[in-house]
Amino acid sequence: MRLVLLGPPGAGKGTQASAIVKKYNIPHISTGDIFRENIKQGTELGKKAKEYIDKGLLVPDDIVVSIVKDRILEEDCKNGFLLDGFPRTLNQGEALDDELSQMNLKLDKVININVEKEVLIERTIGRRICKDCGATYHIKFNPPVKEGICDNCGGKLYQRDDDTQETIEKRIEVYQKQTKPLIDYYTKKGLILNVDGTKKISEIFDEIVEALEG
Ligand code: ADP
Ligand code: AMP
Repeated sequence: MRLVLLGPPGAGKGTQASAIVKKYNIPHISTGDIFRENIKQGTELGKKAKEYIDKGLLVPDDIVVSIVKDRILEEDCKNGFLLDGFPRTLNQGEALDDELSQMNLKLDKVININVEKEVLIERTIGRRICKDCGATYHIKFNPPVKEGICDNCGGKLYQRDDDTQETIEKRIEVYQKQTKPLIDYYTKKGLILNVDGTKKISEIFDEIVEALEG
């Protein structure tokens, strides 16, 4: 299964992605995670990406596209993959289509998670991530059993540098301008699956599975 998760920052893409990839046993490709890992390792890519990420801007298309192209050619993507946070511009969407058609492949579904702005801000500001395994929590909506500690691996939870009120507002604005047009793009291709992201995490997941299998 070849899937894309679309939606504004804080919509719950990463949260749903974790459950979807477990169920379908496909790799989770999050461009945001790839950048954060590179920032942590201090690579040249990480340094370059950080300049944009800290301002709430998108990393340039050529950088992101070449990362994703290489990644989907890897062996573990043979039976499918889940793209989370890519594509984020029409250019990226077209580049993905070109690459897939060269491989004689196409996307099965684009899951579009809808959530309004006020909720997105509350969600991102309260988001906490495990520094070891990357699991995502929310201080109010999805708290770990023990404050500040990951339920899965015992790692420490941290707050992303770009999850501040100011940056999130910028990221939502960037989403509206640059990413939202992809909804229309994929609707025209008959690939969009719209889900209400304000429901409970488990309800959204059940709805996605039902639609994918129905
Ligand atoms: P995205 O990957 O789209 O930026 P995340 O999956 O990281 O979003 O979710 C953003 C925040 O909202 C996290 O703190 C997460 O725990 C929380 N969250 C995700 N889905 C829901 C939901 N359905 N209801 C309430 N909180 C949620
Ligand atoms: P995310 O983890 O998906 O919220 O992404 C965090 C940040 O990484 C974004 O705000 C962008 O700066 C950058 N980023 C992630 N994916 C992309 C992409 N497909 N295109 C451009 N920038 C991206």
